[in-house]
Amino acid sequence: MVIIRRLPFTSNAKQFCHNIRRKGSNTSQNGSQSTKRICIVGAGPAGFYAAQYVLKHLSSSAVDIIEKLPVPFGLVRYGVAPDHPEVKNVINTFTKTAQHQNFKFFGNVTLGKDISLQDLRERYHAVLLTYGADMDRQLNIPNEDQPNVVSAREFVAWYNGLPGAQHLNPDLSGQIVTILGQGNVAVDVARMLLSATDALRKTDTTEYALEALSRSKVERVYLVGRRGPLQAAFTIKELREMLNLPNVQTLWKQDDFKDVPEQIPNLPRPRKRLTELMLKSLSEQKMASTSKKKFLPIFLRAPKAIDGNKIELTVTHLQNDMAVPTDKTEHLPSDLFLRSIGYRSSCADNGICFDERNGCVYNANGRVLRDAVSKVVNKGLYVAGWLGTGPTGVILTTMNGAFAVAKTICDDILSNTVDIKQTKPGLNAKQLDRAATWAHWQRIDQAEQEAGKALGKPREKLVDIEEMLKVAGL
Ligand code: FAD
Ligand code: NAP
Repeated sequence: MVIIRRLPFTSNAKQFCHNIRRKGSNTSQNGSQSTKRICIVGAGPAGFYAAQYVLKHLSSSAVDIIEKLPVPFGLVRYGVAPDHPEVKNVINTFTKTAQHQNFKFFGNVTLGKDISLQDLRERYHAVLLTYGADMDRQLNIPNEDQPNVVSAREFVAWYNGLPGAQHLNPDLSGQIVTILGQGNVAVDVARMLLSATDALRKTDTTEYALEALSRSKVERVYLVGRRGPLQAAFTIKELREMLNLPNVQTLWKQDDFKDVPEQIPNLPRPRKRLTELMLKSLSEQKMASTSKKKFLPIFLRAPKAIDGNKIELTVTHLQNDMAVPTDKTEHLPSDLFLRSIGYRSSCADNGICFDERNGCVYNANGRVLRDAVSKVVNKGLYVAGWLGTGPTGVILTTMNGAFAVAKTICDDILSNTVDIKQTKPGLNAKQLDRAATWAHWQRIDQAEQEAGKALGKPREKLVDIEEMLKVAGL
C-alpha cells in the first residue's frame, strides 16, 4: 500500500477506484451484482500485485492464485540475491494480500500439467497468466552445451535453493570464470562468486551452496559485453557494490573507454552517473594490488565459439549503439562459463497464443490475443509480468505493469466485456491432488525459519518438493 502512494500511477488508481465504487454500487442497487472470480497463474510479483489491485478495486471479487511450487513469491524467493534481503521485503505486502478473505492460494498446481487453461476458463470470469520465465536464452554458438558452460539462471537457482537446481554442482575448482552478458543478473552472480563466504553465511544462501563456495578456487571473474560501457545493462547500485566488495579489485580495460569521456555531457542522468563511476574507478585502478580476487569487465567482445577451456570472442565496434562484428577475434582462457544473456518464457498450455521468437505471450496491453495475425482479443484471458513483457524489469516495473493489467481486467468486467459463462465452480483444494494452501505454506515458512535460526541465518530453504509437502502435512 505504501508503495502505491509513492507512484504517479496512484492518482489514476484513486480515480479509477472511485469510478469502480460508483459503478459497483449501481450494480448492487440493481441487484445484479455477483462475485467475479479471477484466477491468476503464478505467485510471483506480477501475480501478487495484480491480486492486490483487483481485491482492492473490484468490489465483490474473489482471487485464486495457482502456483507450480508449493511455495509462493517466484523470483523474489528464487532470483533476488541472498545478500539483498531488503528487496525481499515485498513479501510482507504479498502476505497481506494473501490474508484477504477473498484470496486463495493453490500451490503445487502446474498449469499445463495438473490443470488445463480450458478448465480454468470454465471456472473463472477472468484468467490472468503471470507464470514468468523459467528457461534461458541461448547464444547459439559452438560448444555451448559443454559441461563447463552453465546458465546464470541455473547458477542463481542453485544458490537460492530452487527445487531441482540443488544438484547442479558447478565446478568451482578453477581460478577463472567468464560471465557472458553484463546485466544485473551477471553482476549478482559475479558478486556471489567473489564475496567472502563468511559474509554470505548470514544470508539465506543454501547450506550446500555455502559449502561449495567456501571450497571455491575462483579468483578472476570476467564480465563480457558485446557492446560498450555506454550500453552496459547493469545499474549503478549494483556496480557500486562490486567496487566496494572487500578484498576484490576491479580492473577495466583502458581501450574500452576510448571516446567515452567526450560523450558524458549528452547522456541522460542515470547513464551519466553510471559512466562517471566507471571512469572514476578506471582512473583510480592500480595494476598492483594485494587483492587476489579480480572483477574484470570487458566491453566490445561478442561470444563466437567455446572450445574446452577457452572462448573465442569477436571484437566489435558500435554503429548506432549496436554491436557490429569486425574480422578480429581474441581468445580468453576460462575454467567455467556462465551464460547470462536473459531468461526466457515457455508456452505452458496449447491454448495460449505464444510468441516463440520473442518468448512471450502475444498480447495487446495485457489482453491475450487469439492469434498473432488477426489480433483479435481472447476475451477474459490476460497476461502480466515477464511472461507478457519479456524477461526484463525490476520488481517496481513488474508492479506497475501488473497494476495496469489488473485495471484492464476490472474495466472489462465492469463493462461486461467479459461475458464468458462459467459452467464449473472455482477450484477447491480438496479436489486437487496435494494442493498447498496458504496455511500449508505458513508451516513450510515456519520450518525454514526455525532451521535458519539454528544456523544464524534468516531461513534455510527446503529444496525438495516431497519434503516441503511432508512438512506442510500433505
Ligand atoms: P516470477 O517472479 O518468475 O513469478 C512467476 C511464478 O510463476 C513463479 O512462482 C513460478 O514458479 C510460477 N510458475 C511458472 N510456471 C508455472 C505454471 N505452469 N503453473 C503455475 N505456476 C507457474 N528485481 C528487483 O527489483 N530487485 C532485485 O534485486 C532483483 N533481482 C533479481 C535477480 C534475478 C536473478 C532475477 C532473474 C530477477 C531479479 N529481479 C530483481 C527482477 C524481478 O525478480 C522480476 O521483475 C519479477 O520477479 C518478475 O515477476 P513475475 O511475476 O513476472 O515472474
Ligand atoms: P538484461 O538486463 O537484459 O541483460 C542481458 C545482458 O545480456 C545484456 O548485457 C545483453 O547485451 C546481453 N546479451 C543478450 N543477448 C546476447 C547475445 N546474444 N550475445 C551477447 N550478449 C547478449 O537481463 P538480466 O541480467 O537477465 O536481468 C533481467 C532483469 O532483472 C533486468 O531488468 C535487471 O535489471 C533485473 N535484475 C535486477 C537486479 C537488481 O535490481 N539488483 C538483479 C538482477 C536482475 P545487450 O545489451 O547488448 O543486448
